[in-house]
Amino acid sequence: MRQLHFEQILLETGWDRDITLKIDPSGYIQSIERTKSKEMGKSITGAAIPGMPNLHSHAFQRAMAGLAEKRSSPTDSFWSWRKVMYGFLDMLEPEDVTAITAQLYVELMRGGYTGVAEFHYLHHSRTGQPYDDKSLMSQAVIEGAQAAGMPITLLPVFYAHAGFGGVPPEHGQRRFINNLNDYQNLFSELQGFEQQDPNLTLGVAPHSLRAATKEEIGELLKLSPERPFHIHIAEQQKEIEDCIASYGKRPVEWLYENFDVDKRWCLVHATHLTDAEITLIAKSKAIVGLCPLTEANLGDGIFPAKRFVSEEGSFGIGSDSNICLDVARELEGLEYGQRLLHQERNVLTSITLPNTGHFLYKKSVSGGARALGQPLGGLQIGSRADFVALDLEHPDFYGRDRESFLSILLFAAAADFKTDVYIAGEKMVAQGRHKREEEITRTYKARMSNLLSSL
Ligand SMILES: [Zn+2]
Repeated sequence: MRQLHFEQILLETGWDRDITLKIDPSGYIQSIERTKSKEMGKSITGAAIPGMPNLHSHAFQRAMAGLAEKRSSPTDSFWSWRKVMYGFLDMLEPEDVTAITAQLYVELMRGGYTGVAEFHYLHHSRTGQPYDDKSLMSQAVIEGAQAAGMPITLLPVFYAHAGFGGVPPEHGQRRFINNLNDYQNLFSELQGFEQQDPNLTLGVAPHSLRAATKEEIGELLKLSPERPFHIHIAEQQKEIEDCIASYGKRPVEWLYENFDVDKRWCLVHATHLTDAEITLIAKSKAIVGLCPLTEANLGDGIFPAKRFVSEEGSFGIGSDSNICLDVARELEGLEYGQRLLHQERNVLTSITLPNTGHFLYKKSVSGGARALGQPLGGLQIGSRADFVALDLEHPDFYGRDRESFLSILLFAAAADFKTDVYIAGEKMVAQGRHKREEEITRTYKARMSNLLSSL
């Protein structure tokens, strides 16, 4: 049993000081005690806040950040970005995926994330043929996570079609495609890995209503009824129009008519919603997976967060295309989108938590934890001891009241505020440096120079 003493800590119950956490050998919080003495255990200086779950990542896209930032047609859009992305992933070998994933997860951890849901759809070889070992690419992702020490919820993605109503897949999608039987085999193989690795959790993920039919989603729901269930939905206007053309309904409207959507679901993006759809999602307790910086980068649109929050909807954040790997910038982006849209300030708050930074952070931790299906969700008994220590000597924090720390983090602190990041009570990042960063970055650079020279 380890003990850590905290000068200041944001517990699930709120800010507190002089607290000792007892942490069991697996890294979970066993008890929370008020102690004046630092002799109780190693002392954490600064202010500790819970680590943030990242509920949506496509790891390989980290390596193409910046490559799609030039206009390629008179109407550059999500769909032209997707062409660049398909071209990039065509080249990737499993060793590239491991190197990129490890590098990304090191950077995510430095940015304050302590768990990731990886929405993984790159399954097959470059020709589109499955590897002899069908879970090879999933294993490549798991190895990357293990190298970085990042707890991962792996969501092997079911992808079978190019459009609503079971349209046959395109050439650029050949590495993603599985039928239900192949997917079930992949999933049961991965369950074997899950049993060996305490840092690996599995979930189920039909890619979208474009890529999976109603019957297929129905079968996937039966595969493992307790696990997180993620799907991309209503990200682009074209997707809404295509859904209406094929199914006569909007995506979220159709989803709720056909399935019993509940709290195990994570609806990723859900950008374009009617008021009735906002109410459906909020009432169902499904998590909305918001990725504000990727949604801005791709020109998706702005999620109606003000109304959703007023109806007590649940949400978390994800880094999605991995162009920005910082919790604070992602949450800042979420609030700023709403300020610009509504021409108001401090839009995303509640009566009980009027401090914007605190509200956004707390809601994203609890929503993200549920979407990952990992024992996280704030610093409380039974949670994994994941936390980020803020350096209160940084000029932005110095002398400020702790009630404002999270708003300073989101809206003022420069990216260089030095943090230590702990996962399961173990220090993984010290003064902004991950403990295996040097070796992981060296490997990443070597793989990248190889890969990008063939572009
Ligand atoms: Zn995505």
